[in-house]
Amino acid sequence: MKRPEREVFLSDPVLTEDEIEAVGSAIRSGWITMGDRVAQFEGEFAREHNSDQAIAVASCTAGLHLILTAFGITNNDEVLVPSLTFVATANAVRYTGGVPILVDIESLKRPHMDLLDAQRKITSRTKAVVVVHYGGWVCDTEKWRKLADDHGLLLIEDAAHAPGHELSGKHGDATAFSFYGNKNMTTAEGGMVIVHDPDVRECLRRLRSHGMTSLTLDRRAGHAYSYDVTDLGFNYRMDELRASMGVVQLRKLRKWNDFRRSLLRRYRELVVDHSDKIAIPFSEDDETTAHLCPVLLWPDSDREKIMQLLRRRGIHSSIHYPPVHKFSYYVKTLGNQSLPITEEFSSREISLPIHPAMDMDDVAYVVEELLKLQ
Ligand SMILES: *Cc1c(COP(=O)(O)O)cnc(C)c1O
Repeated sequence: MKRPEREVFLSDPVLTEDEIEAVGSAIRSGWITMGDRVAQFEGEFAREHNSDQAIAVASCTAGLHLILTAFGITNNDEVLVPSLTFVATANAVRYTGGVPILVDIESLKRPHMDLLDAQRKITSRTKAVVVVHYGGWVCDTEKWRKLADDHGLLLIEDAAHAPGHELSGKHGDATAFSFYGNKNMTTAEGGMVIVHDPDVRECLRRLRSHGMTSLTLDRRAGHAYSYDVTDLGFNYRMDELRASMGVVQLRKLRKWNDFRRSLLRRYRELVVDHSDKIAIPFSEDDETTAHLCPVLLWPDSDREKIMQLLRRRGIHSSIHYPPVHKFSYYVKTLGNQSLPITEEFSSREISLPIHPAMDMDDVAYVVEELLKLQ
């Protein structure tokens, strides 16, 4: 294959000497797990999200599992989740023995979980709803809060795509964030949880570390000589290397999110002005952290071919998401289901490159090449 003159990756972490210096300094300190840097990262992340405390975890998936466990979700409890999400959202429910009830999206224009479909699927066994801020567009969490309150459900936010959004974590009982390598900020692997109820928060903190009642740091500081194990916990901790990287990345997050939004605006201008066969969901006025740039192709498009041709021009693209209810594990566990809007969206969507290492010329190049294929 001839090398294309330009290569535009789907996402690309921005890693500089700042991150290297921070991680190096964590290593040189000799204290490499659950120390001051984790505490600092938790504090600064909480403040950024108008919360007083946050809990650093090994991943967003671990965070979701901890949240569901701390709130007592267990065998056969039903939890409403969108099918248009990364599989981890539904898997976390399965880890507890709960049953994810997969919900359709609102429309092709608004691929958020549909409130009416969710409402129809509530039963006496429903305990919680997990909303996903698809692509960084935060769901109408006030509306979901009301639905949850009306039916006595927990509201959990999967905010893997929406760190740094002022509404992330505001209305949910608990919220999980991801710092995986392709997210808006990264610690390579890692996540963060915000929980509002102080008792549940303390329970979650224990569950993060084997269900133990005292932390390593307390023991080293001489505050505690023994400990109890109150629950069946996990090892879902974050280490000091990741936390030190998180502190540095968090300081750049606002600037990066602003820049992502400007890339998305440019995509919108170029697509809206020049094509009636390709659409970008949501609208200019909907607030987003612009984690993804999803594009809906025309109904009978040959998506695979289009992705291949783009790739030949150096443009990486992806699909967000293959629906959870179509994966063979979920067909096996939950049976065949039909969620027509999710299926249509998912069969026509491609995600275009969007990340802070791109520039406006890259956007113009991607759109120009895409429009040639319509
Ligand atoms: C990435 C992602 C997750 C999982 O995050 P990890 O930190 O990799 O566990 C969960 N939900 C959504 C919507 C994601 O995009």
